[in-house]
Amino acid sequence: MIRVVIVGALGGDEGKGKCVDEMVNYAKSQNDGKRIVTIRYQGGANAGHTLYVQGKDGKLKRFITHSAPSGLASNVDCAVGPDVAFDPLQFYEELKEAKQIFDYKGKILISERTGVLLDYHKQLDAWRESNEKRKIGTTKSGIGPFYEDNARRTTRITFKDYVSDKFTHRLKDVLELKKTELEKIGIKSDEYHDKILKEHDDVRKQLAPFAQRLEYRMQEYVENGDHVIIEGSQGSLLDVNMGTIPDITSSHLLAPHAFPSLGLSRKDFKIICVEKVYPTRVGEGYLPTLQTDGFGAQTVKRGGEFGATTGRQRRVGYPDWLLAKRAALLNDADLFYITRTDVVSGQELKVCVEYDVDGKKIAEVPLDISTVKPVYLEKTYKFKLWDGHEDVSNVLDIHEKLEPLRKKIVEGGYDNLPKELKEYIEEHDKFIGCKTVGISLGPATGETVLRTELL
Ligand code: GDP
Repeated sequence: MIRVVIVGALGGDEGKGKCVDEMVNYAKSQNDGKRIVTIRYQGGANAGHTLYVQGKDGKLKRFITHSAPSGLASNVDCAVGPDVAFDPLQFYEELKEAKQIFDYKGKILISERTGVLLDYHKQLDAWRESNEKRKIGTTKSGIGPFYEDNARRTTRITFKDYVSDKFTHRLKDVLELKKTELEKIGIKSDEYHDKILKEHDDVRKQLAPFAQRLEYRMQEYVENGDHVIIEGSQGSLLDVNMGTIPDITSSHLLAPHAFPSLGLSRKDFKIICVEKVYPTRVGEGYLPTLQTDGFGAQTVKRGGEFGATTGRQRRVGYPDWLLAKRAALLNDADLFYITRTDVVSGQELKVCVEYDVDGKKIAEVPLDISTVKPVYLEKTYKFKLWDGHEDVSNVLDIHEKLEPLRKKIVEGGYDNLPKELKEYIEEHDKFIGCKTVGISLGPATGETVLRTELL
């Protein structure tokens, strides 16, 4: 039975969506007649999980989810927790898209407590990004203003209100409470209220059957012995308290936060940190091991390092085990899942294990990481999955060529991995204090060497 929480160890875009899909696949392979549910517990449409899955015609298809849990791509149950910034229009679009690609028969559950993100949140976010002096580099999806409204309490519109007759009054009240702020960015409440109502009229009806007291439904999955896969949306460096303040997101994304909001118990779950071999960041925010040319430029090109939500180029650094170790600590991690080994196949890797702060070496991550210099191990690592340095950025074009090579490695299992890669993994795990359960060598589901005995 699979019971996991999957969370990003670094600056986001680590491949959490793919890891979720691998777990769904593994759960399906048990053929035990049990249900499988994937759950989003925080964040909103600022996340973008890209999945490559087999379509009905057997061809590889790209599938991107922003609002919906990754399980949407594989017809399993999908749930949305109360701490999510829920964008109903975006969610409904994703539902429709899933219907076109797959025969969608899964069940959707949305906590009645989940707050609803509306147009004014996005407009406020975009206005701040364009007009304020200190920018965060957000995706302009409205996440910051949404969580401010949640914290203010009176300005939170719950999903239950949204799908009920109360919506029109609640919206009026909230627009009134936010009047001064909204007028500043050119929103006048009367006609705006009617515009929102009209825009949401159909979607409210479509989504109404999904409202649930989610904490009780979650208990039912657990008691029934079902597979429960919980997914985080961002990387640990972006956590509202423990991230690189102020270049962070506005939610509590560390894995242990999932349990109280979903009514689940930590003891029933394994926590998996997903770590790209090399850290990346999009938007503002520092990376101590940042490489702008050489390794960095090559990796951006070979790995196609561009964000799923905004298309912005990600910045790349050398492996930073100190950041990964801190992610293990903060997330109470049991296991790691390492992605993008194919991108760095054949490249020399330096590994950061300490920081230099004003000439003093420390093995801790300080509040302000823009002041630190990386201290690398003298030893460097290099592993090769296959001959040649393939550019894997054009995933769909290169797939046919690399699929047999990847398949052979997956079939060989962990013991038959190139010894230099095993050495990297073993030394990484020793440093971090957690075992690596999956080594991903390609973007598609199935392209992972899974050590299922660790699950
Ligand atoms: P997420 O938000 O953490 O799910 O990550 P994104 O979807 O934003 O970005 C991860 C990208 O990396 C996706 O396009 C994945 O398909 C891709 N990916 C995941 N694992 C691997 C891997 O091992 N190799 C390659 N080449 N791509 C991978």
